[in-house]
Amino acid sequence: MLYGSIEAGGTKFVCAIGNEKLEIIERVSFPTTTPAETMPLVIDFFNQYKEDLSAIGIGSFGPIDIHPNSPTYGYITSTPKLAWQNYNFLGAMKEAFAIPMAWTTDVNAAAYGEYSFGNGKGLSSVVYYTIGTGVGAGALQNGEFIQGFSHPEMGHMLVVPHPKDDFKGSCPFHGNCLEGMAAGPAVEKRNGRKGQDIPQDDPFWEIEAEYIAQCAYNTTLMFSPEVIIFGGGVMKQRHMVDKVHAAFKRLMKDYVATPELEKYIVTPALEDNAGTLGCLALAEKAYQDAK
Ligand code: ADP
Ligand code: ZN
Repeated sequence: MLYGSIEAGGTKFVCAIGNEKLEIIERVSFPTTTPAETMPLVIDFFNQYKEDLSAIGIGSFGPIDIHPNSPTYGYITSTPKLAWQNYNFLGAMKEAFAIPMAWTTDVNAAAYGEYSFGNGKGLSSVVYYTIGTGVGAGALQNGEFIQGFSHPEMGHMLVVPHPKDDFKGSCPFHGNCLEGMAAGPAVEKRNGRKGQDIPQDDPFWEIEAEYIAQCAYNTTLMFSPEVIIFGGGVMKQRHMVDKVHAAFKRLMKDYVATPELEKYIVTPALEDNAGTLGCLALAEKAYQDAK
């Protein structure tokens, strides 16, 4: 018995096969170009395992339609990636494979990975942010994704500009939202070089930490989760975690007695595997639910 995983990102699709123990046994990646080009590669990959494939978990870039009763359930909806706008992703997969499928956002899948195997293991409420090309977020409570009319978009929460920061923000919708101020492209625009090329002792990182701490502050007040996990390319700057803890303490002023910060605001235990492992765990859940 095998499970499939599709981590559909804006730049690449990572497809993987896991065994019954949810160990990854094969993983490939395809560039995200157009559905006409990318989807046949995805389907061919899973076709190799068709006989043993029990379920597939899909974590997709979005926004996506997550409402089972909606006529566009399973679609990628208003994405800026034109070729994928209003694309029936789940429908295309279901046409190719008549097996249970889980359908959620890419960040929800990563959150589920950390919840199942990583820094959220054994906890009932987990919030996960990825600070990369954009800022995405997923939140889980009692093993279920928190969602309402749609999935949350916490990456676009507004942040208060740091007094030493005159950057206006790069989000075309909101300017100074978290994504506009703190995602990789905002880091690059402000500094004239990519985050990975900015030295650890550059004062800019204090500004970046301030925004991430504001996010942790808002998250704490809204959800009081048991853990907040920050992943994504920008958080590869591991020194950031300490800076975020310090800024968070300053902002919170002990108003809420959070768990110990070293265990409360953390980076992903699964590093870059959170999404794939999350999709596999969601596939297993879809299989169990369908039984
Ligand atoms: P994506 O969000 O596209 O899935 P990533 O999470 O890797 O991919 O995010 C890419 C962004 O993270 C880019 O803007 C890149 O400059 C930035 N980034 C990648 N590595 C680092 C690093 N070591 N330090 C700071 N920023 C980084
Ligand atoms: Zn925004």
